[in-house]
Amino acid sequence: MQGVGYRAFVFNLAERFELSGVVQNLTGEVLVEAQGVASALDAFAAALVSAAPPLARPQVVSCQPIPLRKLTGFEILLSAVAAQADIHIPPDNYLCDDCRREMLAPNDRRYRYPFINCTQCGPRYTLITRMPYDRPHTTMAGFPLCLRCRAEYEDPHNRRFHAQPLACPVCGPQLSFVAAHQRAHKSVGGDAALDACIAALRRGEIVAVKGIGGYHLVCDALDPLAIARLRASKHRPHKPLALMFPWQGEDGLQRVRAELQLDAVTQAALCDAARPIVLIPRRADSTLPDSIAPGLNEIGVMLPYSPLHHLLLEGFGSPLVATSGNVSGEPVLTDNTGAETRLSNVAQAFLHHNRPIARPADDSVLRIIAGKPRLLRAGRGIAPLEFDLPFSLPQPLLAVGGHMKNSIALAWNNRAVLSPHIGDLDAPRSLEIFEQVIADLQQLYSVKAQAIVCDAHPGYASSRWAAKQDLPLYRVQHHHAHASALAFEGGQGKTWLTFTWDGVGLGEDGTLWGGEALLGRPGKWKRVASFKPFCLPGGERAGREPWRSAAALCWESGLAWQSNARDVVLLKSAWQHGLNAPVTTAAGRLFDAASSLLGLCDIASYEGQGPMLLEAVAQNDFESRDAEAIGLPLHEDENGLLVADWTPLLHALRRDEVPVAQRAMQFHLSLAHSIVKQAQRIHARTPFDAVGLTGGVFQNKLLAELAMQQLGAAGFEAYLPQQAPCNDGGLALGQLIEAASKNISR
Ligand SMILES: [Zn+2]
Ligand SMILES: [Zn+2]
Repeated sequence: MQGVGYRAFVFNLAERFELSGVVQNLTGEVLVEAQGVASALDAFAAALVSAAPPLARPQVVSCQPIPLRKLTGFEILLSAVAAQADIHIPPDNYLCDDCRREMLAPNDRRYRYPFINCTQCGPRYTLITRMPYDRPHTTMAGFPLCLRCRAEYEDPHNRRFHAQPLACPVCGPQLSFVAAHQRAHKSVGGDAALDACIAALRRGEIVAVKGIGGYHLVCDALDPLAIARLRASKHRPHKPLALMFPWQGEDGLQRVRAELQLDAVTQAALCDAARPIVLIPRRADSTLPDSIAPGLNEIGVMLPYSPLHHLLLEGFGSPLVATSGNVSGEPVLTDNTGAETRLSNVAQAFLHHNRPIARPADDSVLRIIAGKPRLLRAGRGIAPLEFDLPFSLPQPLLAVGGHMKNSIALAWNNRAVLSPHIGDLDAPRSLEIFEQVIADLQQLYSVKAQAIVCDAHPGYASSRWAAKQDLPLYRVQHHHAHASALAFEGGQGKTWLTFTWDGVGLGEDGTLWGGEALLGRPGKWKRVASFKPFCLPGGERAGREPWRSAAALCWESGLAWQSNARDVVLLKSAWQHGLNAPVTTAAGRLFDAASSLLGLCDIASYEGQGPMLLEAVAQNDFESRDAEAIGLPLHEDENGLLVADWTPLLHALRRDEVPVAQRAMQFHLSLAHSIVKQAQRIHARTPFDAVGLTGGVFQNKLLAELAMQQLGAAGFEAYLPQQAPCNDGGLALGQLIEAASKNISR
């Protein structure tokens, strides 16, 4: 435990029970020696766990009697490096209530100070440069404490005792505001910077605001013109934008409640210590412009989490768009010059501060599915995400994840850590951050990887990087990794039937999988069911152009594709000859095809656009209420693989006389129905304990809930990932589990 105020807590507790002794940090573990009256010692021992500060969550490693020593009072000793380091890197914490109160109190010396923090709040992961966690090892090293801050820092009775990012207006970081057209000439600081930023936002400008884990691009969420300008300059015509709401009313949620449908689970997720982005359905009377999330019913919403965000939102008084300040798909930008250079075409102004960010952490994203919050992106406040492994590793392992939505994972002994979301590995900056996070996590946790795990696809940038390292390399099949991540989380020791549905991943037979059911357990998966394969015209381009998947299904079925354009005729001829038309079974491409056949999306401007629009349109209850599932024929091929035929779905999707919403709902119902049918057929042949649903397709709430419900009704235990993303963001964790299980069972 570090940076959570635990030693000061122990000190104060010892004083209360009139004990003498010492407390010391041993990189991750805390050593407490106490002596006094026996009954007081017992009460003290119990309170060490039960009354601990909220962020500490301590566990007793061991407890033993020791010889009496001559001691006067209770002392906090300097940190020592333990031989067996058991380091935990805390994630970044939202502004605590005590600090928020101080920040709003006019006679407090930190009144309206945007970098106020204490042992219970403030940045951690994005500010630690090395361990042990002490101020010189953070990006606050360049801010010497003033006398008053030093006194607080050294006083164990103070709630800022050894709060490493401790700061005040005299000695700490400052804001600066720069308008793009007068860069390098004029910048204003302090309250004037905040005022200038708010004035710019009121004029409809786009401001890049530096936060905890990087920059946000910010504009007025109620101003359709500002949103249109942001979209045009960021080349993001449709991708949903996240909003930050002002903290208003008694519980802070008054404004959110006016625009969105809040229930207890959603509310708890929104107020979680990680302060994530939560996808929440709009209210029918919402005043938010449609252009925030065109064609979708849900909006990504978060509450202010840093003191700066609180002040900004309070000053503006109304929701702001707060989307990642990055170049499409790359990690969020973190340094002042980099942001000014790379966001110069988008932002009209910059609200900087001079506290350096050690490494990026994008906002975390949650969606409530089947009554529980499911992590879709691990980021600020949540990552590094720690897991206990059910086995002990003989040597440290590094897993480098997939290609899109990359994150990496590190494991040693019986521990695993998943990094925050890094991004899509196409761009040089993404690769730079990818390498930095790999180096940083090993350095911070004092672990040196002795072997690497990567995806079986040799073309992924992560796999290419892994192959260049001078370490033993294990290649794990994409969907085996997804299935193993689910089995790890959902219950080890069970035999699972796991539906791994996503875009595409290289399969064991060289085709592109993505609609499989895998039977077994980590290290031992068998492909038992799949979809009828089809050929994707144009290969990789099909992922961005749903019409290609629609054309593929039509051509496979001997039907004409609606377009007779010259290039489509050429494409069909190439497809017939098998040129650049890889074989796939990907469920994600079936969703793409459906979105195109229903006229929702022919070309996607962001990943998952077609399927997201398809899900949203199906939720039109009035039009979709008559939809009924169609049975998809199942047959066994010569290898005993169960194959689900999508052909009847294609015919249903093409029935133009049926309302679009009804056809979209029918598509979802039929796939959920097919999951149950497949599970029943397989269970009759080879019994299993539980059904898992994972892969990016199950970010689809409608499909996931229908499938969970129907599996439950059919008597199956069903599980959907919660702690690690079911999309490729959780792949690295699964790679670790799969590779370790294979090697251990060998
Ligand atoms: Zn605080
Ligand atoms: Zn100070």
